[in-house]
Amino acid sequence: MKIVLYGEDEFSSELKKYLDERINKADVEMRGDFLNYFSSGNNEKIPFKLAEIRAMNVTKPFAYNEPLYGEIEQEKRVIKGESSASGILYDGFKLHGIFQDIIPKEERGLDSTHIILTDRLIGTFDENDRRYHARTIVCGFPSIISMTGVVEAPAKPREFYIEKQLAGGDVVAFEEIKKKYVGRFIDYGDARMAEVLKGYAMQAIFYHAFNEAFCEDKGCRLFNAHWQEEMIHAQLEGDEFCKRHEKLAKTL
Ligand SMILES: [Zn+2]
Repeated sequence: MKIVLYGEDEFSSELKKYLDERINKADVEMRGDFLNYFSSGNNEKIPFKLAEIRAMNVTKPFAYNEPLYGEIEQEKRVIKGESSASGILYDGFKLHGIFQDIIPKEERGLDSTHIILTDRLIGTFDENDRRYHARTIVCGFPSIISMTGVVEAPAKPREFYIEKQLAGGDVVAFEEIKKKYVGRFIDYGDARMAEVLKGYAMQAIFYHAFNEAFCEDKGCRLFNAHWQEEMIHAQLEGDEFCKRHEKLAKTL
């Protein structure tokens, strides 16, 4: 199976190593940053399109944002690596659409999986509670894994939020609270990030190969975690996969 990885070398090289070991017939190619690989920074339309799909109001279904000049300029700087997209939420399905269009037709065959690691925060609108929720992964062609999503999407322990609320805006108190809960959630710059990404990469690969990304088993790497502690359990503790997915993994 041909697997094409996009993203910072730091994480993609660890992922490549893991996939090479884990998948018998893996042919893993690392391409660095997705947008830069396809020279999208030189394409005037891409920064505009990215600014257009910012989810501006988390309590409203998706509507195209009319980008301001500054937003487009910021997107250009993010693509060049001169600025970060921190604090911006993008519609996950729309971002998926933009990325899919960028991949040339001749590379869209069923024989290859494209996995994009990004710092951008992605979310999808949930009709049930009528609001956007951050996501760790959007599976499809390509699959997008958000590293910011790994930190922000699964909920931290309930007590953490209570303490955070009690601390109000006190930054020092907030850092103290974070220290208390260290180990119970993945934070920015966390050494466990690479390990967590392996599980999400496998979700993308399973989705591509078997059309199923998620598992009900809390100990399986394919478990769709809604809590940080569930994610840490599925990705870092115990077995890699449940019995069924272990078997399926061997056929990859
Ligand atoms: Zn499983």
